[in-house]
Amino acid sequence: MSTWDYQYADFAHSPLMFYYEVTQACDLVCKHCRASSQPAAHPEQLTTEQAKALVDQLIVFPRPPVLVMTGGDPLKRPDLFDLIRYATARKLQVALTPSATALATLSAMRAAQRAGVRCLGISLDGRDAATHDAFRGWQGSFDRTLKMLDHARELGLGVQVNTTITRRNVDQIDDMAELLATRGIVMWSVFFLVPVGRGVEEERITPEEYELAFERLWRQSQCQSYSVKTTEAPHYRRYVLQRQGHAAPQLDERNQDTRRGRAPLGAGDGKGIMFVGHTGEIYPAGFLPLCCGRFPQDSVVDVYQHHPTFRALRNPDGFHGKCGVCEYRRVCGGSRSRAFAVTGDPLASEPDCLYVPDNSPQKLSTAGK
Ligand code: SF4
Repeated sequence: MSTWDYQYADFAHSPLMFYYEVTQACDLVCKHCRASSQPAAHPEQLTTEQAKALVDQLIVFPRPPVLVMTGGDPLKRPDLFDLIRYATARKLQVALTPSATALATLSAMRAAQRAGVRCLGISLDGRDAATHDAFRGWQGSFDRTLKMLDHARELGLGVQVNTTITRRNVDQIDDMAELLATRGIVMWSVFFLVPVGRGVEEERITPEEYELAFERLWRQSQCQSYSVKTTEAPHYRRYVLQRQGHAAPQLDERNQDTRRGRAPLGAGDGKGIMFVGHTGEIYPAGFLPLCCGRFPQDSVVDVYQHHPTFRALRNPDGFHGKCGVCEYRRVCGGSRSRAFAVTGDPLASEPDCLYVPDNSPQKLSTAGK
């Protein structure tokens, strides 16, 4: 299956993107690390056979998802290429998110490609070494990241660059966009900080600054050769629709971006997205630490389709506060991860959105004056 075929109705039974944290081991100490990674693998990390059994479950989904092998640093796992071969032999699309360490050599990337990887996710968090290296916790990370981008280009691998936006770099969006324009990437995925893991020590931007950041991203998306999307900032979809002068889509409208097979209407935590941790814990997303089961005791298919938390996350009518009545709730719905991180309630309103929905009590009381 291609991601192009994924339809709105598929959210109910199959994730579009399945993130498998193959290990938590990583040699870096990035400031916003969700996983609070450690140098060595956890002793209860899923074994090779268990990881293969997990892959076997993915092909049971009515629409098998794209498998993203993430970490930690996936290259710290000795059986990584074996697992990639196993998954691609079962017709799964596999993407890889290597860390910028000494392990990320040209030959390692070539081996991943030969095993079946077609797309890499590479992190870049600043326009220059000073900003990026401060994020990543060591000098030289920026240069190594650029080298990884060069290697990927040389090999013809598609690249999605992942950037985490915090107060440190929100003013660098335009400069980063220009830098990426020289690197032949396919997608820029701009992640807005969720305060979990080591990310609790980083400073979130304000809702007003989100709107300014969205404006910059939207302008860049109009002129760059690569696509731009946000992660954990679904209100960017609301911003784009408003910017284009469109009303909020109706319930069953697909609103698919046809430029590069981007996620169709409103994928989010537990709704088109699923995450399995290194020891088998099953979550709606990597940034939403609500454990809904554990593989191999629990089936990931069963948890995705039937667990009450997943089902609630797919029902924006049940969201609390303004997100539950917002006309954009089906394309946006707010970041469930940030709602949980800030309020403890995964169904609470997005804390970092300044939009006031038309039929919110606040707007209605103003209109009645
Ligand atoms: S109020 Fe909630 S659903 Fe509406 S645009 Fe903001 S975050 Fe999205």
